[in-house]
Amino acid sequence: TDDVVRSVHRILAHADEQRRLDVRTNADTPEDSARARRFGAQGIGLCRTEHMFLGSDRRKLVEKLILADGPEERQSALDALEPLQKQDFLEIFEEMDGLPVTVRLLDPPLHEFLPDLTELSVRVALAEERGEPDEGSLRLLAAVRGMHESNPMLGLRGVRLGLVVPGLFAMQVRAIAEAACDRRKAGGDPRPEIMIPLVGAVQELEAIREESERVLAEVCEAEGVDVQATIGTMIEVPRAALTAGEIAAYAEFFSFGTNDLTQMTWGFSRDDVEAAFFHQYLDKGIFGISPFESLDREGVGRLVQIASDAGRAAREDLKLGICGEHGGDPDSVHFFHDVGLDYVSCSPFRVPVARLEAGRAALGGERAGS
Ligand code: PEP
Ligand code: MG
Repeated sequence: TDDVVRSVHRILAHADEQRRLDVRTNADTPEDSARARRFGAQGIGLCRTEHMFLGSDRRKLVEKLILADGPEERQSALDALEPLQKQDFLEIFEEMDGLPVTVRLLDPPLHEFLPDLTELSVRVALAEERGEPDEGSLRLLAAVRGMHESNPMLGLRGVRLGLVVPGLFAMQVRAIAEAACDRRKAGGDPRPEIMIPLVGAVQELEAIREESERVLAEVCEAEGVDVQATIGTMIEVPRAALTAGEIAAYAEFFSFGTNDLTQMTWGFSRDDVEAAFFHQYLDKGIFGISPFESLDREGVGRLVQIASDAGRAAREDLKLGICGEHGGDPDSVHFFHDVGLDYVSCSPFRVPVARLEAGRAALGGERAGS
């Protein structure tokens, strides 16, 4: 087995010499970051911060933030969240020292954070039955009802949430900047990149960018450290792909979110890819493989191409990457090489395969197994 391991390392080293695509990883914990680095990841292409809010204490704080009665209540939730976020980023910057870390600002489907409507209704009903109406729960119920969405994946997510909840993205940017300053003071080399999710119109990015730049400058000034953080956007809404030239004026990088881009291009909900109807449909064999597994070149791929061309025409040094699941799919990696992206980002365990396929693509080879 030592021989096998040595051969694999030799093949991967050869692929690394050839490939033009960098390979990064999708990671949001120090453990995943360290693992991916051992597998050869050249940074983090997607750190999903919503995963950092799933613990019950933090979930409560986000709930309080989103349903806040007024600015004071909102600010107290933000103040409690910021140091927790700062610690999250510190640990990840430490593991990825010297390598880029793309931190994506919060992009949760809202229903994952709000109290469950049924549970809440039962609580209210039981209290009434006992003749002790629960005012707090009643108010909460009204608020949650008001925010209920039929399609949470197409609702108040990403930049939309950042614009609707004042201070939310600023809190995250502050935590990123402070963590980077601390690392720098400790002699480290943090390389944060701030990524805005679900942008569909340049105005959204413009507004968040302005706020982020202000916060970054404030923190650097207060800490007496000059950390550079680039600001970019996901391209995952078809409208963003079609207006990429304008968006590039406010983005130092694009990262294609092919999960959402596939959902919105095909009109298939991501939440339903495991559903029976979707399999029945695929089993008809008309399209072959699911577009969520292997990139659909004629549709979604066309949008990736259009956005890459328009983005680069508007900004020559625009960095281009992909962080949807397709970033670790062998066939799709060849496509991203052909389009001329700078990097693919995939889950830690797929990093070696992505390195191999990026090397094969550069050599003009067919993908492994085909
Ligand atoms: C995507 O949409 O492809 C993406 C990477 O973001 P998420 O899967 O977190 O929506
Ligand atoms: Mg997405």
